[in-house]
Amino acid sequence: MSKGKILLVGFGPGSGEHMTFRAREAIEESDVVIGYSTYIKLVEDLLVDKEVIRKGMTEETDRAVEAYAHAKQGKTVALISSGDIGVYGMAGPSYEVLFQAGWKPGDDIEVELVPGTTALSSCAARVGSPLTHDFCSISLSDLLTPWPTIARRLDAVADSDFVIALYNPKSGRRRQQIIEAQRIFLKYRSPDTPVAIVKSAYRDLEKIQLVTLKEMGDCDIGMLTTVLIGNSSTFFKEGLMVTPRGYANKYENITGGVKQGEKRGRSLSLGLDGWKAGIKDRLSNTNPNLCNDIETVAAEFELSIEEIFLALTSPAEESQNTVDWAEELAIEEGLKAFQSFIQESPKNFAIGEQQTGQTQLTQFDSNNVKIDNNSICLAQNGMMASVVKDKIQHIWKINYPSNGTDEVVTQSIWLLDKRGKAMLRTFG
Ligand code: SAH
Repeated sequence: MSKGKILLVGFGPGSGEHMTFRAREAIEESDVVIGYSTYIKLVEDLLVDKEVIRKGMTEETDRAVEAYAHAKQGKTVALISSGDIGVYGMAGPSYEVLFQAGWKPGDDIEVELVPGTTALSSCAARVGSPLTHDFCSISLSDLLTPWPTIARRLDAVADSDFVIALYNPKSGRRRQQIIEAQRIFLKYRSPDTPVAIVKSAYRDLEKIQLVTLKEMGDCDIGMLTTVLIGNSSTFFKEGLMVTPRGYANKYENITGGVKQGEKRGRSLSLGLDGWKAGIKDRLSNTNPNLCNDIETVAAEFELSIEEIFLALTSPAEESQNTVDWAEELAIEEGLKAFQSFIQESPKNFAIGEQQTGQTQLTQFDSNNVKIDNNSICLAQNGMMASVVKDKIQHIWKINYPSNGTDEVVTQSIWLLDKRGKAMLRTFG
């Protein structure tokens, strides 16, 4: 008996020309073709003389189980899916079923994955070039993913200025998810942000709508639609949606001269090295407002306090100098340093981070600072703030300047959480 084979085939957006050569060949060489009935229709002309098994939308694991059963009989089975079968497709469930059945690579049954053009690529191609800079995809389907997980990702991505592709944006039963996504995006992005809504790309009933983020919720969106939301530099021009590659930061224009301070073929002056060197220059000259300035720089670049400390203290390739007035302490040591610091009463404490550096700080008397095994608690004049010790992931200490003059002008201890954000700092 011949050895069985499972071909996991992504056939692209749905038109013959956009199927890869290997995908066509894989379907042609198989004895059995299994897929969702809509997909089967899209490749019908390749299915003459083949055993065809049409499945419903929700019978995903069944499809994989059936493919395995046929392959065990020595047949070549193609499991087909639109786009790329590894992108929100059958590839994952198939491997899970195979592993459950005890299958391993190198066994009698061979498994081959045939990649295809995923919806975000094909939809992007229909509207211009929206994915030219960093992008990501999120599926709005909450059939297998809890909504809080989806919402948290939407929030992170909206805030980080990625271009985004929304898969499974809406169906007959799921109508509010796209509205929620719009609300989350509007927290961070302009209502005029370009949005492309592409339905059935490269198929018969293709429909393209170029709209703005504020209009997105009212548009015709369905199961066969992918929604592309631009970043803060994406624009519409002459009916096309384009995201610049970012050369605008570096060059006067895409073909023209190099901007002052930038070198052709080299990282930007705000590239990794330039950024580190720049932070050192800027913060080494700011005494006596050092702590405020650290917060201001972090807010300006939308980075955590931890990132600023790391930029200050790690060597950049081109300028090897590092500052020696900031150091990370081990948690235990840091907490001891914090404790002895507040014993010299009274001291000022800042809770969290100041966004502008100009907040009036409250003086907490050290008698009003209670430290127990679990938390650090500040309570005074009807104000209370507490930090759970378990959440402290990094402690940094500043002694500025530690060379030059002998006198330490600024001393401060910062308690940071896992994101590197300050939960509490002393005010030197
Ligand atoms: N494996 C597929 C995705 C399956 S999830 C791929 O890689 O493209 C199903 C979702 O894909 C749909 O809800 C829609 O958001 C998107 N999609 C698939 N084909 C599409 C097409 N031709 N045009 C627009 N969106 C499409």
